[in-house]
Amino acid sequence: MTQSDPSSPRYDIPPELQGQVTVTTLDRIYNWSRSNSIWPMMFGLACCAIEMIATASSRYDFSRFGMEVMRASPRQADVMIVSGTVTKKMVPQIVRLYNQMSEPKYVLAMGACASGGGPFKEGYTVVPGIDRFLPVDVYIPGCPPTPQALLHGLMTLQRKMQQETMKKSPWYSEKTSTPIPVPILGPDLIDPRQYDLIHQQNELASQPAETQPEEESHE
Ligand code: SF4
Repeated sequence: MTQSDPSSPRYDIPPELQGQVTVTTLDRIYNWSRSNSIWPMMFGLACCAIEMIATASSRYDFSRFGMEVMRASPRQADVMIVSGTVTKKMVPQIVRLYNQMSEPKYVLAMGACASGGGPFKEGYTVVPGIDRFLPVDVYIPGCPPTPQALLHGLMTLQRKMQQETMKKSPWYSEKTSTPIPVPILGPDLIDPRQYDLIHQQNELASQPAETQPEEESHE
């Protein structure tokens, strides 16, 4: 047990065993091993991906943190680094890949585009942030974020993982997790979770003009 955790019980180790025996919690050792072997998924969306590649190269070298095994298959990855502009065309693929990752899994929004649309926020082809669809764990600001910023984001994720407990983590509960409905790309992007709202708006739009609620006058 660490002295910094006042809620943990303390165990006295006999003097003859000190230096040979360590007492810790399962959560602590489990989180330590998981957080030092994060395998990111190997994919990039735009210019931020170049910085992500630089972070993997020898100068910054994120293998120092146990993250060197970037996997090209979602079933072998546990962190998705969304690095770049999220276009509507790519969202169904990103959500599908996220659903295919095994749990526990995490998402980093790298850069202004993935976090909130960035310089293309008003663009008709761009989604203003991947958090409209996926649960983001860490946001990394910048356009583009430097490799140091990405490393800081990954270390922040490590700290977050180290705070988790098996008792409370959703992936160890008895309930099975439900996949995120994959958005449908048509003339525009449709989020299946918004079907009810879209239906209501269509109903409202199809009513004759005199039955529609009047807009407030600002004069
Ligand atoms: S945040 Fe900047 S560098 Fe990153 S993908 Fe968007 S425009 Fe490119």
